[in-house]
Amino acid sequence: MSTVLSVDELASLVASVFERHGVSPENARIVAGVVAAAERDGSRSHGLFRLPGYVSTLKSGWIDGHAVPVVTDAAPGLVAVDAANGFAQPALAAGAPMLREKARTQGIAALAIRNSHHFAALWPDVEPFAEEGFLALAFVNARSRVAPWGARKKFFGTNPMAFACPRPGGPPLVWDQASSVVAQGEVLLAATQGHELAEGIGLDSAGNPTTDPKAVLEGGAMLPFGGHKGSAIAFLVEILSAALTGGRFGYEDKSAAFPGALTTNAGECVILIDPSRTGGDDVGARLGGLFENLAATGVERLPGDTRHAHRRKSLQEGIAIPDVTYAVVQRLLKAGRGGKTDDPFRTFSEWNSDADTKGYGKL
Ligand code: NDP
Repeated sequence: MSTVLSVDELASLVASVFERHGVSPENARIVAGVVAAAERDGSRSHGLFRLPGYVSTLKSGWIDGHAVPVVTDAAPGLVAVDAANGFAQPALAAGAPMLREKARTQGIAALAIRNSHHFAALWPDVEPFAEEGFLALAFVNARSRVAPWGARKKFFGTNPMAFACPRPGGPPLVWDQASSVVAQGEVLLAATQGHELAEGIGLDSAGNPTTDPKAVLEGGAMLPFGGHKGSAIAFLVEILSAALTGGRFGYEDKSAAFPGALTTNAGECVILIDPSRTGGDDVGARLGGLFENLAATGVERLPGDTRHAHRRKSLQEGIAIPDVTYAVVQRLLKAGRGGKTDDPFRTFSEWNSDADTKGYGKL
């Protein structure tokens, strides 16, 4: 059984939950839009599944829901944003107009966000720019969870990066991936449901390979995808997101002092390139040729295809929210802001272990 909502109805419902838990209307609107977009596109690991975690983090006092980002024109090709200990998405929204303007004028520009919390998928941060004709790259670092290749303990975050490119005659091609072999939520889910992990995903606290998810979570480490290559990408993400922006490195995370906090106060870097500045009118044709030749290889699925199929269905039919999920959202909506009427963190664990919510299992 489920409740069917339009994307706008869902975004409005989620914004109400955020506002209930101390987020300003403007910030609530922006972050709720990202949560609803994830549900719309079938990225369920970053949709409503995360809502209890957002609430838990807000209640912990670790993040400021009312933060007002401060945008600085740092250099001809660089916009700096202090997210003021708020969500990363409002900071991106605040810096985007200047970033866009600089990239159009100069061909390339970067946005450096610091003091920000990113608890979402990264593709919503880049896809809109590619819809406007830009190539866009985004990088976010997070608290230490991943061992550098050859090391025995965690150091990097799961550090995702995303890339978006215009596609003539279709939606942008977007890929968005963590630097770890699997998302941390898969390890959490395996621990909650009592499953073993596949080999090559994690280390225990002594730095030995393990398939026990609890050993990975309790003092162990996750492994980077692709061995030394993924480790190098995680390093790149850490440098662009934290060193360049002035944000915290993953190992500087202080969230443990705020019980219930699930986000990292870290940084994000977004790079925009205006391809028409190098390729002129020819860029569209060249990209068209590239996609045609790619299709001729017989490739069955490109990154983002699955999301766009989900999106088409959601826009036509609405988004079906399973009853168990809808009930959690309603509980969060009624839960007190610092009181004890509900415990979103407990709800989060329950949700993870609920068999009906299997599709929500990937954090
Ligand atoms: P996946 O491994 O599921 O997917 C990575 C990319 O590969 C996606 O673009 C996906 O496209 C594409 N893809 C997957 N399978 C195929 C296939 N068979 N053929 C072609 N392309 C494919 O993602 P991850 O587990 O690495 O990351 C999950 C999410 O977690 C990301 O959105 C990431 O941003 C987020 N994350 C966020 C963090 C944060 O701190 N905010 C930290 C770490 C991760 P498609 O979209 O179509 O599935």
